[in-house]
Amino acid sequence: MPELPEVESVRKVLEKSLINQKIKKYNITDKRINRFNNKNPKINGLLCDIKRKGKVLQFKFDNISFLFHLGMSGRLALNSAKNKHTHGVFVFERDILIFDDIRKFGFIKILNNDEVFNHFEKLGPDSLNLTQSNKIQIMQKASRSSVGVKKFLLNQKNISGLGNIYVNEILFLSKINPFLSTFRLNTDSWSTIFSNTRKILKKAIKNNGTTLSDMTYYLPLGDYGTHQNNLLVYGSNICFFCSGKIDKLYIDSRATYMCNKCQR
Ligand SMILES: [Zn+2]
Repeated sequence: MPELPEVESVRKVLEKSLINQKIKKYNITDKRINRFNNKNPKINGLLCDIKRKGKVLQFKFDNISFLFHLGMSGRLALNSAKNKHTHGVFVFERDILIFDDIRKFGFIKILNNDEVFNHFEKLGPDSLNLTQSNKIQIMQKASRSSVGVKKFLLNQKNISGLGNIYVNEILFLSKINPFLSTFRLNTDSWSTIFSNTRKILKKAIKNNGTTLSDMTYYLPLGDYGTHQNNLLVYGSNICFFCSGKIDKLYIDSRATYMCNKCQR
């Protein structure tokens, strides 16, 4: 958490408010959040665009960009009060953006636009916008790998934007066993995975993302996501398809929900 739908929902709110405003000043106070920056350059420019690849947000200025990664518990909030977990403050002409992160797995990177290109090149294709050639590239990589499909989809170098909740949902809807080695998946299985990925991500974005019971995720103006009400398997006990029992297992200590009957 947060995964692609949450980051995209945050992006859409920020885009409406912040684009075409000048940044007046900013301050990143936490060393861990600021761990990739040697210097904090002066930026006096218009925010031209807010883009996203995978789970990373790019605030694009004339020659420089801020990249935000929300990690496990990062939040971007507009015009809200600072608190003890606020590690970055960005003052625009009309709005103030704050970056909070309780667990501090997130980061803020300040890069010139060429460096941003290199950063994004290292990430696999964005899971919301897969082209035919992206899909072929993913399938080729998968055919050479014996790693389990869940683990494969969570690796941001293979495909970017998916995290634990949505991978559980995608594999359940696709009726594919999360432990299955990727070299065993045929083209039909992959086309099911790709189409369900798009379907689930689109619906989750429409619902402004998933706010779990820990309530850590919310949108920049304070609203919560509602996709938790539409989850098919994550956190449930009973199978949506066969009414059998849902097992909760762990893969790399990430909770894995699956139906043994439906996901053979
Ligand atoms: Zn079932």
